[in-house]
Amino acid sequence: MRSLTLAEARERSSLITVTSYAVELDLDQGAEVFGSHTTVRFACSRPGADSWVDLKAHSVETISLNGEPIDPAEVSDGRLPLKGLAADNELVVAATMAYSHDGQGLHRATDPADDLDYVYGHLFLDAAPSVYVCFDQPDLKAPYDVTVRAPLEWTVLGNGAATRTATGTWTLATTKPLATYFVTVCAGPYVSVRDEHDGIPLGIHARTSLREPLERHAAELFDVTKRSFDYFHGLFGIRYPFGEYHQVFVPEFNAGAMENPGCVTFRDQYLYRGAATRDELLTRANTVSHEMSHMWFGDIVTMQWWDDLWLNESFAEYMSHRALVDATEYSDAWVDSSIVRKVWGYGAERSPSTHPVAGVEALDAQSALQNFDGISYAKGAATLRQLIAYVGDDEFIAGVRAYLTDKSYGNGTLADFLGAIETASGKDLEAWSRAWLLTADRDTISVEIDEQGGVVESAVVRRESPADRPADRPHAFHVAGWTDGRELARASVTVTGPVTTLADLEGTPEPAILVPNASDLTWARVRLSDSTVAALPSQLAQVPDAQARAVVWSSLIDGVHGAAVSPDAFLDVFDAAWPHESNSSILTRVAAYAEHRVVPYFVPRDQQDAAVARLNRAGVGLLERATAGTTESLAAARLVAGTSDDATLLRAWADGKGLPAGLEDDGDFRWIVVRNLAARGLVGVADVDDFRSKDDTLQGGLNALMCRASLPEADAKAWAWEQLTTRQGRSNYEMVHLARGFWVAPDDALVEDYVPRYFTDVPAMSGWVGEDALSRVVLVAFPRVFTDETARLSAEAIARDDLTPAVHRSLVDADAELREALASRATFGAAV
Ligand SMILES: [Zn+2]
Repeated sequence: MRSLTLAEARERSSLITVTSYAVELDLDQGAEVFGSHTTVRFACSRPGADSWVDLKAHSVETISLNGEPIDPAEVSDGRLPLKGLAADNELVVAATMAYSHDGQGLHRATDPADDLDYVYGHLFLDAAPSVYVCFDQPDLKAPYDVTVRAPLEWTVLGNGAATRTATGTWTLATTKPLATYFVTVCAGPYVSVRDEHDGIPLGIHARTSLREPLERHAAELFDVTKRSFDYFHGLFGIRYPFGEYHQVFVPEFNAGAMENPGCVTFRDQYLYRGAATRDELLTRANTVSHEMSHMWFGDIVTMQWWDDLWLNESFAEYMSHRALVDATEYSDAWVDSSIVRKVWGYGAERSPSTHPVAGVEALDAQSALQNFDGISYAKGAATLRQLIAYVGDDEFIAGVRAYLTDKSYGNGTLADFLGAIETASGKDLEAWSRAWLLTADRDTISVEIDEQGGVVESAVVRRESPADRPADRPHAFHVAGWTDGRELARASVTVTGPVTTLADLEGTPEPAILVPNASDLTWARVRLSDSTVAALPSQLAQVPDAQARAVVWSSLIDGVHGAAVSPDAFLDVFDAAWPHESNSSILTRVAAYAEHRVVPYFVPRDQQDAAVARLNRAGVGLLERATAGTTESLAAARLVAGTSDDATLLRAWADGKGLPAGLEDDGDFRWIVVRNLAARGLVGVADVDDFRSKDDTLQGGLNALMCRASLPEADAKAWAWEQLTTRQGRSNYEMVHLARGFWVAPDDALVEDYVPRYFTDVPAMSGWVGEDALSRVVLVAFPRVFTDETARLSAEAIARDDLTPAVHRSLVDADAELREALASRATFGAAV
């Protein structure tokens, strides 16, 4: 179906003002379809003019405009033409809609644990017309009255407070004006925990089979929720206006969460079934706070068009970290940002698909989605930190408050936002925003020292901007240095040119390691000196500053991807520093990165067993030392479970024997063990089914699919490929898990026949898998056969002109990673 263009949206919003929506959904029509009866009241500024509404129905029963019937056959390509509009209009559409299984629209899932069904609406970015007829664009906001008919035993939640009015019928309170993509209904036998804070009724909800983790995690979830409310009320000076605040943990959710006003949806993996590491709790707290900050920035004030979607996300990314640091126990949230979010963003920046943070023309809604990535979140947030350094924090917050107040319940643009900051700060942001927001790519920063007898004589910061995308970006950051854990140097620096003198370092002893951007305030490629890299194995573990350690790891990861740091050098630092890491985010993320990225991508096939054995030794060492039940112990146990080649140990753990303390009953941990057993061919299909029967849940089913796809047998690969590429009933999550297991193989021979098939079979799924879900499948299913032949086929595929934007974008990104792996292997292949 065609995607709304910017030109169409502008024309329509100049003509139409929507007054109200009344939506009646009938969710009691079985598992395939639901009823949707919608009344839209709207004004037309030029009576007599024509327009259209968006409608993607399974079937349309009746349509009337101002009392006159319209033939349902008029609906074409997702649009219903409206001819000869009056000044005030009433459109009534009765239609039957289809539930989705790809996480977009009104998604319906069956929980295998108890065969109960759950429904939730995820209408971002343009799925609203598959639930109700609407003018689907972000600047046509209106209040909603929603009623829902549902099976008797179901609970219904939505943007407005829900009241059960008659048997099986629920009425939701009238909402404030909402953009179409914020409307949601969650319905099913959800279980709930309720609370209240500062006059705001709070609820958290999940599937019946997740009652235990929901109740176990409720105190922590409500604590972060309450602290975030207090913090944002104080910071923004505007009361939360959407009534009740519900957080619903829903199955098979594509993203982390969605900021529907009053009814935020979260992926339900956040209700950790087993033991959770501290960084997992931090990540979830961060998501809670992130979505809440959207209630102001995104929901009260919505971007006018999708090209400013980045501003929502950059802002929420920044605000959630700020709130965690200022108002919760997660005072190390920026460390997590460095090793998780910015590593993701730097990956996006390295890809040929990189783009400016802002100002990327989005000619239609779907193309806007292609630029919605690590640049929008991580780089955008880092850019806001640089903006604050440039204009001052008080001035920034004053500008934000003015923007939110001026545009309440309406829409804003980047120009509106920057204008408010300029007014509040008195600073002209034209040159700043051109360099930081409107130019893609990043500077490389490094520090050069001249020393005499171990004392710094002179030091300079070098800033190089990319030759093909020149920009004059000012940077504010810190440079710090350590020897044997003692901080010998720390300087605050504002860089406004290619070379900046660091006078503060003159006369200080030369530190063994020197870290540019040590507090990670800016966005840049951080190039560590050769002497610093050489000293890391003996020095990094002693650096007491977790933020600086995260910057070092991020720089090493960047260096591995750019063939500047060999995987062997990375593993040398890993062996020496990782087992002593005290920050939970660095500990778990660096281990996962080493296991799932550095070794399989950058270490040549014939050396991978030795590299995995190194990781395993580090894990075993830490597991022996760590206190049971701590993040250290859990991170070590997961690394051991994923990397061990000790069949006796793995079989015992899989059978629940001799497990590390705290993991006795942990279904998710067992699946890490089973996956390793499956990949090594130490279990078969029947064994996987057996483990599945011990964990007959949604998560258990997904893990079983992944394990079966990982089996090193031709039959298993053929089965998995057929299931992935031709079984149209498979959910978004099932496809991703099949893809995750598929390329796991002891040698290329087992899977190399599927390399050419990937480039034909996977793009062909466009017809029946939603773009959002398919973009993930394309990335995860991309061949892990790192050869020139794969690169040739990949280049050929990218040049095709029949790919959808999402498929094309994901292919470009996966191809870039393949080429990074090939370049690293060519540079360092023999050295590991
Ligand atoms: Zn967000």
